Amino acid sequence: MNIPVTRTHNSRLAAYDFSNIQFGPNPTDHLFTADYQDGEWQQAEVKPFGAFLISPLALCLHYGQTVFEGMKAFRLADGRVSIFRRDKHLIRINRSLERMCMPALPEELFYAALDALVGTDADWVSGLPGNALYLRPMVIAIEARLGVMEARQYKFLIVALPMANYYEGTVNVKVETEYTRAAKGGAGFAKCGGNYGGAFLPTRLARAAGFDQVLWTDGESHRYIEESGTMNVMFAINGTLITPPLNGTILDGVNRDSMLTLARDRGMTTEERPISYQELETAFKNGDTIEAFGVGTAAVLTQIREIDILGQRYFPATPPAGIAATLRDELNAIRTGRQPDRHGWNHVV
Ligand code: PMP
Repeated sequence: MNIPVTRTHNSRLAAYDFSNIQFGPNPTDHLFTADYQDGEWQQAEVKPFGAFLISPLALCLHYGQTVFEGMKAFRLADGRVSIFRRDKHLIRINRSLERMCMPALPEELFYAALDALVGTDADWVSGLPGNALYLRPMVIAIEARLGVMEARQYKFLIVALPMANYYEGTVNVKVETEYTRAAKGGAGFAKCGGNYGGAFLPTRLARAAGFDQVLWTDGESHRYIEESGTMNVMFAINGTLITPPLNGTILDGVNRDSMLTLARDRGMTTEERPISYQELETAFKNGDTIEAFGVGTAAVLTQIREIDILGQRYFPATPPAGIAATLRDELNAIRTGRQPDRHGWNHVV
């Protein structure tokens, strides 16, 4: 698939400070766009980054038909640029789109779009340690026709932003037993905008109480741990890696899968099963060896240094060479071509 590229005459690259990355407001020079109309994706192109017009009646502004992905490109040790696990992100965005009644992205289009944008902005993928190019594919309903219904016109965009390590250090979290991120039968497994907007208030309240994030629990009993902020959560208890199962309410995290795979490669026992905060309490009281951490594309892996369970504080271990740190270092080495890519996760652009 050949995607036309219109290059900017005003590159911001030379002025960009890769040693002091401010993630968020600073995109690369270009973006990818395509439009869905008359039942097909068309007008795929890469062009200079900039704002675009949509009608105030555009359905994405009203009923939440917005879906996105978060993925990364890396500078490999040999200087080439690689996109990490694009196949898994494609599967997930199509699952999200299906859940929100939005049109699927064909594999050919998704891959060609990523290649075209990352290829055009390849100089934005810095090889500095910890740096990556964050890629944000998104699909929004742009049909200008007010009414609670599925749109017939959509826009597929990809923007890219340089990123350093997203979370520095460790976090303290609170087990959330009042608010719910997603209920059974809801859209928790989809990466749709509403899941994030609905999480802002409980997160704000937790921050005001001195916590970095909430540990979400299930919407029925509020006993079973689900996710940590916008990361999947893992516990290493006496050497066994435990993470909540994919039961529809949590996101099928790409890093979750990568960490489970690397742990199994090392011969570790892994368990994808419900884990309650009572089980954690018991393990802490027994003096078990416990590491707790969140995993995600942006954060990579963030260790949890403190868990508040109903007002009682517990302190997981955060050893510099423990299970979490070992898995994180191995994942980083694979993604940057410093260790063999034995699972075929890197796609060289
Ligand atoms: N859970 C939620 C709610 C998230 O937003 C993310 C980030 N995409 C994750 C988990 C981690 O997923 P991934 O490893 O694919 O980034």
